[in-house]
Amino acid sequence: MAFETDTAPSFTGVVALDGPSGTGKSTVARRLASRIGAHYLDTGAMYRAATVAVLRAGVDPQDADAVARVVAGMRLDVSTDPSAPRTVLDGRAVDAEIRSAETTAAVSAVSAIAAVRTQLVQQQRLLIASAPTVAEGRDIGSVVWPAAEVKVYLTASEQVRAERRAGELKGSDVRAVAAEIRRRDAFDSTRAVSPSHRPDGSREIDTSELTVDEVVDMLEQLARQSISNRKVRT
Ligand code: C5P
Repeated sequence: MAFETDTAPSFTGVVALDGPSGTGKSTVARRLASRIGAHYLDTGAMYRAATVAVLRAGVDPQDADAVARVVAGMRLDVSTDPSAPRTVLDGRAVDAEIRSAETTAAVSAVSAIAAVRTQLVQQQRLLIASAPTVAEGRDIGSVVWPAAEVKVYLTASEQVRAERRAGELKGSDVRAVAAEIRRRDAFDSTRAVSPSHRPDGSREIDTSELTVDEVVDMLEQLARQSISNRKVRT
């Protein structure tokens, strides 16, 4: 079932939004989902929650077998309501913990493990299959849901991305944030399993010079176009 929205007609498909950190993915994905009455799925939050489980268990994020065991045993629930996204690990909300520096430093190692990806991608597909969804991550248009009606790859200059992230993490040094982003991007885009890249058939939007609303307007237009294209075909 779609969430309540002021605008009609309802979008009934999937919007796949991929791209590296600091491109504005989460903000625009949430806002777009609210506008078109869709669910919102933040797959990065799921990898971050898996990382919290690994760190809590005292397991080395590089130890693939031990990480896989922890992740197989965790219970992860995510709310896909764009007005109240929540990530609940083993019955407790972890929305702040998943954004900590410690989690951010370890998440790339955890998300590079094949068994972790298999498990989380399966859960993501079940969530997406249950309702019209705007899903954001690194592999939505390539692996999780290649048949998405709208596939977009967001980019932005390194400087802009670092400034945005530093703004979110109030008081952070832009240069340190830029270094962390570079490290994570390099790791995510060269890993063996599902390396982060621009999905086939996706449209690239450089958000460096655009406001959030301008990006959301562009995406909304693509979503609405996909509704009319489907009507023409049927
Ligand atoms: O988007 P966010 O910065 O929260 O993602 C955190 C990390 O989770 C990324 O750096 C990446 O390692 C991993 N991730 C992934 N696949 C996704 C979403 C996130 O590997 N679909």
